[in-house]
Amino acid sequence: MSEQHVTRKRFGQHFLCDDGVIHAIVNAISPNKDQPLVEIGPGRGALTLPLLEYDVAMRLIEIDRDLVAWWNSQKQQGVNVEVYDCDVLRFDFNELGSEQEPIKLIGNLPYNISSPLFFHLINFHTIIKDMCFMVQKEVAIRLAAKPGEKPYNSLSVWLQLHYQIELLFDVPPEAFAPPPKVDSSIIRLQPHSTPPVSISDKAGFHKFIKACFAQKRKTLRNNLKKILDAEKIDAAGIDPSRRAETLSIEEFAALHNQLSHSE
Ligand code: SAM
Repeated sequence: MSEQHVTRKRFGQHFLCDDGVIHAIVNAISPNKDQPLVEIGPGRGALTLPLLEYDVAMRLIEIDRDLVAWWNSQKQQGVNVEVYDCDVLRFDFNELGSEQEPIKLIGNLPYNISSPLFFHLINFHTIIKDMCFMVQKEVAIRLAAKPGEKPYNSLSVWLQLHYQIELLFDVPPEAFAPPPKVDSSIIRLQPHSTPPVSISDKAGFHKFIKACFAQKRKTLRNNLKKILDAEKIDAAGIDPSRRAETLSIEEFAALHNQLSHSE
């Protein structure tokens, strides 16, 4: 297959080719034949084929029509795959799972869509059990960043509200063909058994944290000028001269509470 398929840069195609790395990722995924896996971007099967050896049913979401056609031909030959020919950013994961039968998601993600993809996946967090992904190292660090660390931003807060995030290991560019210009990392995201805070208006909270980070170098007093005055910020027990990047999720929730009271 690899000789026939034309690599498409626009789909972020960097195919894994290092057996040691592939083995380590498969181990991290820890396949179990009773739990089907949903793979985003199976490509030429660097992860899919070794996972199929564990008798796992694989559901594949792939945008590249040539690869979809190849996977469909594999299916016709009896390979245990179900192929979804679409853009994962538009995919409705309710097709594949439910709260009773939550999904386990995996993938070597195309770098160009990782942030919008995480925002999309959060819409389905009640039906996703576990995720194990390869992402650009910089993104992995951002997702797991803690308050006070430079990469910490609204995506870190939003994801950590829903998931526990673990950085597993790094993968160098040489493990791919063609090699990307950046390092990559494997991360695991698991829904919290008890969320760090309980938020009733999730959409409002999301908008609010984005406003807090609107201009990263500015203070909360400045970024929130139009929606929350300094006294209200103070009343939440937070110094208005602090920056959003120093606040914990609990502090964002306390601030957001002030907003609800002042509306
Ligand atoms: N899993 C393979 C591997 O590890 O070698 C391929 C990984 S490659 C980095 C990313 C894969 O995602 C490619 O197969 C690409 O065609 C697919 N892809 C890119 N954008 C996509 C999208 N929006 N929806 C679904 N698949 C996408």
